[in-house]
Amino acid sequence: MPSYPDVKLFIDGEWRDAIGGRTISVFDPATEEKIGTVAHAEKADLDAALAAASKGFKLWRETSAFERSKIMRRAADILRERSADIAVLMTLEQGKPLEQSKAELAGAADVIDWFAEEARRTYGQIIPPRGAGVSQMAIKLPVGPVAAFTPWNFPVNQVVRKLSAALATGCSIIVKAPEETPASPAELIRAFVDAGVPAGVIGLVYGVPAEISEYLIAHPVIRKLTFTGSTPVGKQLAALAGLHMKRATMELGGHAPVMIFDDADVEKAISVMGATKLRNAGQVCVSPTRFLVQEGVADRFTEGFTKILAEAKIGNGLDPQTVMGPLANERRIPALETLINDAVSHGATLKTGGRRIGNKGYFFEPTVLTDVPKTARIMNEEPFGPVAIVNRFSTVDDAIEEANRLPFGLASYAFTTSTQTAHRLGQQVEAGMLTINHNGLALPEVPFGGVKDSGYGTEGGSEAVEAYLETRFVTMAS
Ligand code: NAD
Repeated sequence: MPSYPDVKLFIDGEWRDAIGGRTISVFDPATEEKIGTVAHAEKADLDAALAAASKGFKLWRETSAFERSKIMRRAADILRERSADIAVLMTLEQGKPLEQSKAELAGAADVIDWFAEEARRTYGQIIPPRGAGVSQMAIKLPVGPVAAFTPWNFPVNQVVRKLSAALATGCSIIVKAPEETPASPAELIRAFVDAGVPAGVIGLVYGVPAEISEYLIAHPVIRKLTFTGSTPVGKQLAALAGLHMKRATMELGGHAPVMIFDDADVEKAISVMGATKLRNAGQVCVSPTRFLVQEGVADRFTEGFTKILAEAKIGNGLDPQTVMGPLANERRIPALETLINDAVSHGATLKTGGRRIGNKGYFFEPTVLTDVPKTARIMNEEPFGPVAIVNRFSTVDDAIEEANRLPFGLASYAFTTSTQTAHRLGQQVEAGMLTINHNGLALPEVPFGGVKDSGYGTEGGSEAVEAYLETRFVTMAS
């Protein structure tokens, strides 16, 4: 088994300690034991990273898309070769079952390959002129050095989408990766470095997130911000980006509705949604949260779904039997307990779960609440944990109205065999993503993003590279 490293900053092609020598401790959420440290960047480190990103941008934008693509593909292969060891680091620092860590790394390699292919297709346009001898071109150029902020729930996948889109388009990037889960994103970056990405093109820093974002977003070297995290923090950072006229992509919180209709394959809904809810202990921005079940199948769904959650094997992610690991950090325990207690005090029924398991490691029971009134906090705030709400509805109109009630609009799910209902949902559910009769979200080649308070921009599909490009117009008369 690989030993957990003391993680360093990566600046100007070198793995470095912070100039001030400070570090932050890293803990295993399954044991609460300290497993390592991560370097804590201060202003002097950020200045060095900014100078390197500026230099790196000048070099990388001149590197042909063909060459960039080749280097990226090499990085994907290196990541695949090392994924068994990196998966162990990810499980140690984040808690998720090892199989999920491996799947995250396999998915990350696919993301790199996808963007490597897109790198060669950042086409512009020739626009028909009005007069003879005039040419008109819209050309696409990289926006410039990017500042990226990523959270701890998918330590590698949150970084890889931003990093790959930036590199594909010729941007340099400074990644502020999560302090709680620093080793696996550092190994992702090592794969790119070993594949031949030149010094300065990628920077990696850790520290106090608010200090780093405030400094980088305002800094003239940075031309674009990309952030994944909660809606309140996203709004602050988007405001800061606006103040400094920086482009921004915002991947924020959700409160995904799951609409299960009387005509649905209920057994399929139970098994697909049971596994989806348990994934990464529900610490997923697209995790299914508000289950809205039509009256005719509500009892059957609730019973089967509750059974799956109640019987799931909870344990250390390194144990191959484990279906769900611990929460990634201690603060999620009181956050979940508060939301669950509040729901019960508002009249909700606790069907299963609701409590921390033991007192060593941040394990929490998968929880099902039914008949939760809209006034309960959990009906309005993202639980970000293994908690599901199951409520009933009568008509398709009712389901759509409830699905759209919240300011969030990231993922949504539905189970129906009616093409008419499916079509209506596609048109009327206010969400960036809708998956019907399966969980089909988050592949590299499909859009991934939200609407309303869930943010803007997409981090998947061919549109994802657009966010890292600017359009310039060039016209010439002979
Ligand atoms: P938090 O809001 O403190 O932090 C969320 C993420 O944002 C973390 O990675 C953190 O490092 C970063 N962050 C916080 N303030 C920042 C700032 N000023 N500048 C730059 N980055 C900043 O909450 P938390 O306790 O870490 O996580 C819980 C909440 O965060 C959840 O309720 C969930 O809504 C949200 N979250 C969302 C995602 C996602 O995938 N969209 C991932 C992790 C957390």
